[in-house]
Amino acid sequence: MSNDKRTVSMERIVTFCKTRGFVYPGSEVYGGVANTWDYGPLGTKIKNNLKDAWRKRFIQQRKNSYELDSAIFMHPTVWEASGHTENFSDPLLDCKECKTRYRADTLINSFDSSIASDSLSKEEMLQVIKSKEIKCPSCGACNFTDIREFNLMFETHSGVIDNNKSLIY
Ligand SMILES: [Zn+2]
Repeated sequence: MSNDKRTVSMERIVTFCKTRGFVYPGSEVYGGVANTWDYGPLGTKIKNNLKDAWRKRFIQQRKNSYELDSAIFMHPTVWEASGHTENFSDPLLDCKECKTRYRADTLINSFDSSIASDSLSKEEMLQVIKSKEIKCPSCGACNFTDIREFNLMFETHSGVIDNNKSLIY
């Protein structure tokens, strides 16, 4: 191990990863899709090595751990039973002045980390933000929208007819 204290910028790391074929922004050639990534030849090897190491440690080396490879899309009641439909959402709000979007619980905890914001309802979180006059970290204003639940589940439709009955996750 060297004690080299040189720093490498994120831009340089990203350029290195792209030029050496590790990882690219998803669908980059066609304009890109936010928050997706495409792995090149070397990135795919690293990803597979990490998956294999994880499987070895957390499945093969543990007693009573077994792999399950189920379909990505499942009947909606499966997701209801697992709690995903109800709980897989982020409470988001926007600063009306600078349009920056925040997770309400994160905004509260960046102001006061002792508040158990994850156990609060949407209404209670908004009440805390207003009563403590929490300011937008970006512009300093105290003028937020209401909190909206952003569903983290991806919806799609199964079959040829696009209606609610064919909605799956
Ligand atoms: Zn702002």
